[in-house]
Amino acid sequence: MLNLILFGPPGSGKGTQAALLVEKYHLLHISTGDLFRYEIGNNTELGLLAKSYMDKGQLVPDSVTIGMMKNKLAANPDVKGIIFDGFPRTVAQAEALDVLLDDMDTSVSYLISLDVPDAEITERILLRGKTSGRSDDNDPEIIAKRIAVYKNETTPVFDYYAEEGKSLKIKGVGSIEDIFGRLCEELDTF
Ligand code: AMP
Repeated sequence: MLNLILFGPPGSGKGTQAALLVEKYHLLHISTGDLFRYEIGNNTELGLLAKSYMDKGQLVPDSVTIGMMKNKLAANPDVKGIIFDGFPRTVAQAEALDVLLDDMDTSVSYLISLDVPDAEITERILLRGKTSGRSDDNDPEIIAKRIAVYKNETTPVFDYYAEEGKSLKIKGVGSIEDIFGRLCEELDTF
């Protein structure tokens, strides 16, 4: 199985690139942000809980997020591979993911981080906010909080997989096609 963690700050283009990769490599796309927004849209208990964190730019607690991932993986036992988008966001989530994949007799193949300068990230998120309908994309203070959370809590996940020689960075600026080309170059060596 090809199990890819698509990594990078909010607004780095993970969702856009994941959609293209899924088409080319026939992988299952799991975006924890999308899963939470789906729950919010259905007014579930999980959605209400997640919203209380998302609206502040904070992470949803690990136990909740890991439980949701466990269910998603259990519901999709026969996939060719998986693109994880927005997960893991903490070292505890990475450790849990390793156990979940081990139970499926597989493991993380790569973590690829999309490298984008801070100034461009904020600009991109505000632009996306005009059409995404996401309240967390429209408030500069919440965006700053999300970037700070990424730096403090999420970047250690890059180092966690780097220790196993699995982490790499690619330039996340340029056209969507250029960035996709760089990703494919890496994946085609797998
Ligand atoms: P995203 O769509 O990936 O930008 O995620 C939007 C928001 O959902 C984040 O700011 C978090 O509040 C929450 N979220 C998404 N994925 C995770 C995760 N793996 N762990 C904790 N919170 C998450």
